Amino acid sequence: STLHEVNVHEGIYSTLTILGHKLRHKQIQITKLFDANLPKVKTCGRGLNQVWTNLLDNAIDAAPEGSTLTVRTWGEPGFVCVSITDQGPGIPEQEQKHIFEPFYTTKPVGVGTGLGLDIAHRIVTGQYQGSISFASQPGSTEFTVRLPIVSAN
Ligand code: ADP
Ligand code: MG
Repeated sequence: STLHEVNVHEGIYSTLTILGHKLRHKQIQITKLFDANLPKVKTCGRGLNQVWTNLLDNAIDAAPEGSTLTVRTWGEPGFVCVSITDQGPGIPEQEQKHIFEPFYTTKPVGVGTGLGLDIAHRIVTGQYQGSISFASQPGSTEFTVRLPIVSAN
C-alpha cells in the first residue's frame, strides 16, 4: 500500500475539537507547545487519531477541574515526538506495570474499558514502529509518543 504524509498537529487539533465538550465541562485549559518545523510522518497506517484520542481522554479523566493540559511536539533525529501532560493524581507505582494491559482499568464499570492504552500501544508500535512511554508522579503524568518519520508498513 502507498505512503501518505500525516500532519501530527492537524490530528491533535481535530481530536481536541472532538473532545471539546469534555474539556469545557471540566474547564480544562490546553497549552500547545507545537514545534512549527515539525516534519510530517510518512506512513501507510491510519490509526494516529485514535492514539491522540485515547491519551487525551485519559488525561482529561485524570485532570482536576480548571487545570491545564500541555501538549508538546518536537523533533528528534528520524522521529516526531508528542507528549501529553496532565496535572492529575498520577499513576501509583504498583499500578504502573499494568496500565498497558488489555482490560486493566481503575475506573468504574461502564466508564472504563481498560482498552485505551492497549489500543494506543498496539497502533504506535505495530503500525508505526514507534514507542510510547510515560513518567508519572503525584500532580503530573506525561505520556510520550515517538514516531519514526518514515514507517515501513
Ligand atoms: P480506561 O481509560 O478505560 O481505564 P486505559 O487503557 O485508557 O483504560 O487506561 C488504563 C488505566 O491507566 C486507567 O484506568 C488509569 O488507571 C491509568 N491511567 C491512564 N492514563 C492515566 C493518566 N493520565 N493519569 C492517571 N492514570 C492514568
Ligand atoms: Mg482510557
